[in-house]
Amino acid sequence: MLAVSKTFPAVTVREAFDAGQRRFGENYVQEAVAKITELAELRSQIEWHMIGPLQSNKTRVVAEHFDWVHTVDRLKIAQRLSEQRPDHLAPLQVCIQVNTSGEDSKSGTTPAEATALAEAVAALPRLQLRGVMALPAPSPDPAVQHAELARVRSVFEALRNQGLPVDTLSMGMSGDLEAAIGEGSTLVRVGTALFGHR
Ligand SMILES: *Cc1c(COP(=O)(O)O)cnc(C)c1O
Repeated sequence: MLAVSKTFPAVTVREAFDAGQRRFGENYVQEAVAKITELAELRSQIEWHMIGPLQSNKTRVVAEHFDWVHTVDRLKIAQRLSEQRPDHLAPLQVCIQVNTSGEDSKSGTTPAEATALAEAVAALPRLQLRGVMALPAPSPDPAVQHAELARVRSVFEALRNQGLPVDTLSMGMSGDLEAAIGEGSTLVRVGTALFGHR
């Protein structure tokens, strides 16, 4: 489980840390860096995951502060992250964000383009390709949730069948985490169900 701590203060992250949680997800770069800095003495024990939309002008800060990025949806962003990842840090762990619902407003590569992007990411020296992330349109209907999540899983399986070394299927939030686990999620990103309403 990835604990999504966006909008919650560092003290909340510390409470979750004290309860044993080690992986935290953040959406907003400035807010995240402030928290990472405030919790600097826990830095080597916490895995920080960037799960928000990522613009080109923010890639350097992300490459310098995070362990993972879930929202790589185009090659330009991946290239910048690889170039800007400091040498003294481990490679940045990367998921390709896919948009399986076909909504224009949402970020994410199309399922058809996901394999080519994943292959390009896997070839970049300072990135390590880990898998696929998706943010399906919310639905209260478990049948709709399952159908959508199954589409994401099929993109993940396509990468595997292509021989890419992926182990992470990042899907499921507070409203659909049971369905996501049922469809093979390896990393549910949980905010509200853990910390309460934002
Ligand atoms: C906010 C957010 C979550 C957590 O959502 P909840 O519904 O609060 O569990 C998960 N993933 C992403 C990408 C988010 O932005």
